Amino acid sequence: MHGGSSPWFRWLYDCGEYRSHHDARDREIGSVIRDWGVGGAVDVAFISHADSDHINGFEGLFLSGKGLKPRAIMMPQITAIERLVSWCAAVEEGGVTSAFYDAFIANPRRAIASAFGDVQVIEVVPRGDENFSNFDDAPIDVASDGLPAWRVVGPAGDDQSGRPVIQSGSQIRVQAAWTSGYPWVLVPHVAAEITGLRKDFIKALAAGMKISERRLEERIHDPLYVASLLKTQGTKLRAAYRDASPSVNATTLSLYAGPVEEMNGRHQIHYGGRRIRPTERSGRIGWLGTGDAELTGDRLQDFLDVFDQYFLYVKTVTTPHHGSARNRVPALWEALGPDVTAISAADPPKKWNHPSTVVLHDLARHGIMHLIVSSAPRSRVDEFVHYN
Ligand SMILES: [Zn+2]
Repeated sequence: MHGGSSPWFRWLYDCGEYRSHHDARDREIGSVIRDWGVGGAVDVAFISHADSDHINGFEGLFLSGKGLKPRAIMMPQITAIERLVSWCAAVEEGGVTSAFYDAFIANPRRAIASAFGDVQVIEVVPRGDENFSNFDDAPIDVASDGLPAWRVVGPAGDDQSGRPVIQSGSQIRVQAAWTSGYPWVLVPHVAAEITGLRKDFIKALAAGMKISERRLEERIHDPLYVASLLKTQGTKLRAAYRDASPSVNATTLSLYAGPVEEMNGRHQIHYGGRRIRPTERSGRIGWLGTGDAELTGDRLQDFLDVFDQYFLYVKTVTTPHHGSARNRVPALWEALGPDVTAISAADPPKKWNHPSTVVLHDLARHGIMHLIVSSAPRSRVDEFVHYN
């Protein structure tokens, strides 16, 4: 986004592919780099979770000397067990791994620092996380080229090692002079982890490795240990994954990007290069990405509590977990209503039924238009928002 001749403010939410669609991924990455220019800054890049299909484009996108340059990366705090489960899912289900991906699984912050250089990494933690009860509301400012770029407003602080952490639901306010009258925010949400779902995986892995569960849980906090597991215990990790079939999407960062109050904006959406809805002049110009979020029970309530105030401005929303039946969330469609467009990123089903028929019917019941974005160039979605 930008105002007249002022610099652009750019953000990104995930970048990757699933099941050997490298060509389609690299085609889109190439087109973004051409548009934004080699070395062009991404003010903040969000990683929703550790699954390969949400991350494996970052290396190409941010390739030193040939790609874009991230200024900050924001991601949820993801436990080592969850990262290992994501890794197993990638190797077992035909996903894509790489040296960067393995390094990310072992130690996300270090992998990002060594691959992309000087970039600020900010982790997002759930509301009510007792490890971070002494947060204060001092805003974090992030400047680019000496100019204020954005500011985090909301509970913020440091983790045990003094690294920046913010609380789910905090607002990232774009700080350029031209936005002062048009308050545009980015709001990340992370729900509390589903701890029960990974117990079986720990149990199976400990049994396979012939060590106690307690010993495994102690050692797993050490990134070097995790790295060595990936190198030498791949077979046992995979066996534990097949045995326990744990939930792979326990922690996902969702993101709202849009206005924080009524704005006079115009919204256009194109599918395969053609306009598919009339240009609308309403305040509905925001975007809501749900990653692979599993929104059930308290987690759904927490999601609604954070985002409810923005629903009125949401125009485009991604279906949780590519429209998987497991991640059905009828309450979200009820709350958003028929003015939104829902998008599922998915290629024709092989193993996974994405998007699922039940989700398509949930959307139909609310009169919500639905688009599938696949590796086919004609399925590309472009949106344009103008406001003044
Ligand atoms: Zn996914």
